[in-house]
Amino acid sequence: MSVRISINGQMFAKEDAKVSVYDHGFLYGDGVFEGIRCYNRRIFRHQQHLDRLFESAQAIDLTIGRTREEVRQAVKETVRANGFDDCYIRLVVTRGVGDLGLSPSKCYGGPTLIVIADKIQLYPEEKYREGMEIVTVTTRRNSPDVLNPAIKSLNYLNNILAKIEVNRVKAEEGLMLNQHGLVAECTGDNVFLVKRGVLLTPSVDQGILVGVTRGVVIEIARELGVPVREGPMSLLEVYTADECFLTGTGAEVIPVVRIDGRNLADGKPGPLSWRIIERYRELVAREGDPLDE
Ligand code: PMP
Repeated sequence: MSVRISINGQMFAKEDAKVSVYDHGFLYGDGVFEGIRCYNRRIFRHQQHLDRLFESAQAIDLTIGRTREEVRQAVKETVRANGFDDCYIRLVVTRGVGDLGLSPSKCYGGPTLIVIADKIQLYPEEKYREGMEIVTVTTRRNSPDVLNPAIKSLNYLNNILAKIEVNRVKAEEGLMLNQHGLVAECTGDNVFLVKRGVLLTPSVDQGILVGVTRGVVIEIARELGVPVREGPMSLLEVYTADECFLTGTGAEVIPVVRIDGRNLADGKPGPLSWRIIERYRELVAREGDPLDE
């Protein structure tokens, strides 16, 4: 059976799940989205993802036109309709159908709400065991005073331009710097370092998406008694780190062992990375908003 997708509350087979070419999500990237995971019939950090979706919508003055509870139920219903125990959920809200001008005030029909439940594998399985290689890209992360990366909008061209650079050199992910040349994040994940037992990650003011997984990892570190420092991060700190890993809903927690052609420490995933990965896997297996509530 093909994947079933919800558009404005109606369920469609993947082949028939279509939106208008006049939808401003398509014409202008005018909309917001979330990537969420369901493990063991439980939606991990569901409320946090919904909060971020509504905040992103508010930031672009988009009225979703449904309550959080209605969106929560739409997500669960879509996962149930697909019969998945484990899946990746893409929740998209666009400005809806308008005319060919860019003004949102002409989108009369109201927003389009799409829920897709499907499978995703961002990186090859062995990279989760052996660690992966990333490169610093020349494309700078959007400056927060132009388009704040904290808004999870449908405008991902900044990240895509970075990913093109990554693909060109056949690396797995790209490290993006902010307008000051300090580390921001990767194209679809947040970045963490371990140095002398301290966990380091760029602070929100460095121009990043405030990742849900990033938040979970910070919680885990505190629980393990590991000091966490959020702040500016230079490439020098990256090159001289003992460990590095990336976090994201799609990526989960994945170790990094090579950056810009340099091995980190001994070129193997480090011990604190492993402890955090193990704890993360334990958490996702038992926490979450149950599908069969
Ligand atoms: N940064 C960017 C640019 C992202 O697109 C994402 C999500 N794919 C993340 C970080 C990680 O966020 P989360 O942990 O909430 O999935």
